Amino acid sequence: MTGHKRERGLSHKLFAQAQSLMPGGVSSPVRAFNAVGDEPFFVARGDGAVLTDVDGNEYIDFVQSWGALLFGHARAEIVDAVRDAASRGTSYGTPTELEVELAALVTELVPNTERVRFVSSGTEAAMTALRLARGVTGRPKIMKFAGCYHGHSDSLLVDAGSGVATLSIPGTPGVTEAVARDTLVAPYNDLETARTTAGLHAQELAAIIVEPIAANMGLVLPDEGWLAGLRDLADELGALLILDEVITGFRVAPGGAQGRYEMRADLVLLGKVLGGGLPVGAVAGRAEVMDRLAPDGDVYQAGTLSGNPIAMAAGIAALTIVRSEPNLYEELQSRGRALARGLIDAASQSEIQLVASAIGGLGGFFFAEREVMNYDDARATDAEQFARFWRGMLERGIYLPPSRFEALFLTTAHTEAHIDQTIAAAAEVLMELAPS
Ligand code: PLP
Repeated sequence: MTGHKRERGLSHKLFAQAQSLMPGGVSSPVRAFNAVGDEPFFVARGDGAVLTDVDGNEYIDFVQSWGALLFGHARAEIVDAVRDAASRGTSYGTPTELEVELAALVTELVPNTERVRFVSSGTEAAMTALRLARGVTGRPKIMKFAGCYHGHSDSLLVDAGSGVATLSIPGTPGVTEAVARDTLVAPYNDLETARTTAGLHAQELAAIIVEPIAANMGLVLPDEGWLAGLRDLADELGALLILDEVITGFRVAPGGAQGRYEMRADLVLLGKVLGGGLPVGAVAGRAEVMDRLAPDGDVYQAGTLSGNPIAMAAGIAALTIVRSEPNLYEELQSRGRALARGLIDAASQSEIQLVASAIGGLGGFFFAEREVMNYDDARATDAEQFARFWRGMLERGIYLPPSRFEALFLTTAHTEAHIDQTIAAAAEVLMELAPS
């Protein structure tokens, strides 16, 4: 797993073929490894914390399907549930008991949710929630925060994190000015500016949408009072507060950031872990708001594959483990913190500036002198240093997210030995990068 000089022949060949068939050779931009000056490896299989590529190289995986996996690859309960559901049909477009069961688990685990609408991605969840918020309030505008990513729907791409940040796409090509004008943007962790920005359009603001823990500009933790301040601001303005828990949901606590910080959202967006590695997203909230969705309400939203039985079965298996293993989050966090500490120590031995943090099953680090509080801080970190570090780690069998604007994802399959091995690899790479 730590062998230097990876074999890359088959991946290289597949990538060349993929580039002639798909834009950039990938189905989603960050997977092309552009920001780290490499080209992707092609996966043959995953098992727990480890991925194996088509050339037989193994990697300790800290991407974990961008956070969709909380228990590592091919967790037996989830694979069994998928197999069992598939044997009874792959899709019906008609209600199943599985949807009821998963919705009941969501409302039990996630605070302030009485109703759930299932969709097939986080993007769809965010899009649905904005339409609902606009429908409920009768107002056009929304406020988001620079560096937060809420999927790729038009109004949410303005100043977005994740792949938009990674590729340095400045504005919103393909998005009309009229749509962009309805999106207000303020810096993350800056309540005063959020208040001023929202205040300019007080009567027009339908919703404030935020990642309660920002994980698409690297990992950026909410400052003291930030989330409570946004809650108050939304209440003052009569706007809805939409918490995008597509990443944090079931990853930082069973109840997500709402549970962890004891706060209240009007609408919660879920995805990733919710589907146990299959395509599921959801919008959830109080009945009074959610029941405005069609067919009971007048806000239209629909989906051929929404509530797909295989995806629901995988989600039920995932949330059943979450419910039955209450210590899971403490263990994830202690592994994450050990990793963060190890990276900080290794960097300081090489006299390299690095900050790192971890919360629940999320980790992150930046080549920076000081804690990163917002998107401007994140962008000011050393991109070249990150790329060199990332490539050195991959050569040593450690697969980190291929962009400084993404978080690391830990799972219950990451053992102490995986963390130790990762820190040892980091120490070697940082030594190579040390100023001479
Ligand atoms: N919201 C957040 C916080 C995300 O991180 C993502 C994806 O990374 C999304 C929404 C969009 O989800 P999807 O990629 O499933 O459309």
